[in-house]
Amino acid sequence: MKGSCLCGGVRFEIEKAVGPFELCHCHRCRKVSGSAFSAGLGVMTKDFRLIEGGELISTYEAPILREPPPYRNFFCRRCGSPVPNPKPDSTWFEVPSGSLDDDPELKADKHIFVEFRAPWFEIADNLPQYDLNALRKLRSAGNDQKAQSKLRSTRDPD
Ligand SMILES: [Zn+2]
Ligand SMILES: [Zn+2]
Repeated sequence: MKGSCLCGGVRFEIEKAVGPFELCHCHRCRKVSGSAFSAGLGVMTKDFRLIEGGELISTYEAPILREPPPYRNFFCRRCGSPVPNPKPDSTWFEVPSGSLDDDPELKADKHIFVEFRAPWFEIADNLPQYDLNALRKLRSAGNDQKAQSKLRSTRDPD
């Protein structure tokens, strides 16, 4: 499947998505998306390929609140759209789902960091909702790719 930023300068390709597919309501994801949450889709790094626009990608690293890795945002510096990390240093990472041009054939599977939810937004679907503690439990059980990658997400609000 293909993906791109708003101006089309950054283009990438993904063989297949593996999930998880999380809707993060943390305050940092709300700032970065300018919306109620950011949608992050998990892919294996080996399945990702940047086609063009690497020179347009800038990074902002937010100050660490608790422990590394820092929260990082990758974006096209021409149009400001969030884009994937062009060179992930892990076997698994998350792609901003709004940048996809094709159907990833996975649906969002949970809301996370719901304790930070915007007061103006009502979660009206039946997806499971995780706060920080519930999420820690889920990940220590190691039953999803995010847990198996042994890495905390760069989208976590730390
Ligand atoms: Zn762009
Ligand atoms: Zn977040």
